[in-house]
Amino acid sequence: MIPKNHPRYESLMTRELIVEGVEKGITSIHGLIAQGRGEAFDYLLGEKTSKNALKAEKVAAATLLLAKKPVISVNGNVAALVPAEIIKLSEIVNAPLEVNLFHRTEDRVKKIIKRLRSLGAKKMFTKTDALIPGLSHERGKVDSDGIFSADVVLVPLEDGDRCKALVDMGKSVIAIDLNPLSRTAQCATITIVDNIIRAVPNISKFAQELKSSNEEALREIITEFNNKKNLAHAIDDIEAHLASRQS
Ligand code: ATP
Repeated sequence: MIPKNHPRYESLMTRELIVEGVEKGITSIHGLIAQGRGEAFDYLLGEKTSKNALKAEKVAAATLLLAKKPVISVNGNVAALVPAEIIKLSEIVNAPLEVNLFHRTEDRVKKIIKRLRSLGAKKMFTKTDALIPGLSHERGKVDSDGIFSADVVLVPLEDGDRCKALVDMGKSVIAIDLNPLSRTAQCATITIVDNIIRAVPNISKFAQELKSSNEEALREIITEFNNKKNLAHAIDDIEAHLASRQS
């Protein structure tokens, strides 16, 4: 049991959720490594949402609301860390969920779908009748009505190759990745450099607020955004946090 007054309670609880995910067969063992890398970057960012990340979260909400066919991709880490929160976002922006795993096994896919359904997920794409061009067979499997034909895909914690393959298909890709230097962060259309635990509820909050905005107002939020500058700001945020710790 982690005591609630432990100074790093939240981070340690997050780690517990991933371990539980592995034990339940929802999260791949590789997910532990991904989480460790994420934690290291979160530490460098001060384990808080920066102003810059908040801006990207607002842009992501506007992009999802404007999309004709948005889809949210769910992997084993997402299913372990924010299952209820991702279902809530899916409902607010009307973006069905699709389980999409890097280390794909049918057993894990089934377990994740079962978990999401038990938590109330209604709209899900579950076929695997299409392939993302440029990826090997197992890694490219998607639903022809889901990710394959989506115009906007939210891929929290994606691998760089798959992110690039989706961008190459002409899609807008929104990534959540604490590492501003990762290939995913660099190739996505919108990169949210924040912990998924904080990012998903923030996107939902913005989406609720923006839901009644007209198309023009939503477009204005998006056109001001530049992902290269956003990533440069994220690196500045790390530098500023490190400098604050030196004094
Ligand atoms: P890439 O192929 O994009 O270069 P990678 O090989 O560095 O990625 P992976 O291990 O495939 O990384 O994916 C893990 C990524 O997800 C890392 O960049 C890590 O920072 C990020 N990550 C892990 N946990 C979280 C989290 N809780 N919130 C946000 N990002 C996270």
